[in-house]
Amino acid sequence: MHMITRSQRLQQPTRWQSLLADAITDPARLLEALELSPELLPQAIRASASFRLKVPRSFVARMAKQDLQDPLLRQVLPLDDELVESTGFSLDPLSERESMPVPGLLHKYQGRILLTMTGACAVHCRYCFRRHYPYTEANPAREHWHSSLDYLRQNTQITEVILSGGDPLTLSDQRLGSLVSDLGTLAQLETLRIHTRVPVVLPERVVPELLDWIAATSLNVVVVIHCNHANEIDGHVIEAMRALRSAGATLLNQSVLLRGINDNSDSLVNLSKRLLEAGVLPYYLHQLDRVQGAAHFSVSDTRAKQLLDTMRDRLPGYLLPRLVREEPHKSAKTPL
Ligand SMILES: *Cc1c(COP(=O)(O)O)cnc(C)c1O
Ligand code: SF4
Repeated sequence: MHMITRSQRLQQPTRWQSLLADAITDPARLLEALELSPELLPQAIRASASFRLKVPRSFVARMAKQDLQDPLLRQVLPLDDELVESTGFSLDPLSERESMPVPGLLHKYQGRILLTMTGACAVHCRYCFRRHYPYTEANPAREHWHSSLDYLRQNTQITEVILSGGDPLTLSDQRLGSLVSDLGTLAQLETLRIHTRVPVVLPERVVPELLDWIAATSLNVVVVIHCNHANEIDGHVIEAMRALRSAGATLLNQSVLLRGINDNSDSLVNLSKRLLEAGVLPYYLHQLDRVQGAAHFSVSDTRAKQLLDTMRDRLPGYLLPRLVREEPHKSAKTPL
């Protein structure tokens, strides 16, 4: 009989890691799972050549079958629209490389820094401005962690650290726990913020080990999830949110305004209400970053402002997100 040695056992992936590894990356499998026409396959393959398809099966399970317009599907299905070159859409729309004193550390805004912990994500969103980043699977913060901590020690006016990416929750809890405990040694720090789409697309990631390090840190913990449509929030997501709140995290959401996905007031109103059911308040509604390959998702500023006005009429103030755009060389997100 084959014996499992102790070291083999230690290397066994956890359940969420297996689910992540089991994400659909083959366009043919996605079309099959949703009973969509194989005629879409050639363009899905073409459009995924430079930024591959990736979507966890539990997220696919929340999509309607035989519906090419499904708002969750549109966020992940590679289509020929992405190959259209559009003027005014660039490869690095935020010129982020300019505000990087340490590789992987962005210091653009006063008092807070953003750490790109990993290039990996649990899902590949077709509208993402990171689609052209060279570091897709690289791990900038890993080699530069000590330099990042030194930078924080030298810049004591920084009181908030934002873990971002890619998606920081694709990293192991062992690693995250030790990074966060390093951050806890910096006397000036007040708040740890985590920007993540993982609890939405893979709620199984919210495991006791994750909740342990969140509960253990003396920093305020703010988890900013990324959810664009009410259909993304099922019972599992609500449970995951409840667990994060019990561990002491404050929960906020950021969305991107996306043509054909959530650019109507009913969708946006329903999203805010559904978020509240999950114990999450809306934070930002982003105008799309003008990245090459995503032009077909863009919504005009006029339309965006109209939508926000309608939301303001229909929702209590605390369910209204801030409509913003991120611009290079600005000291904060720009309100519209
Ligand atoms: C969005 C962002 C932040 C956080 O901004 P808030 O307005 O505090 O949410 C910080 N740093 C960078 C580089 C950002 O893009
Ligand atoms: S999860 Fe966030 S960083 Fe990753 S592809 Fe989607 S939008 Fe981009």
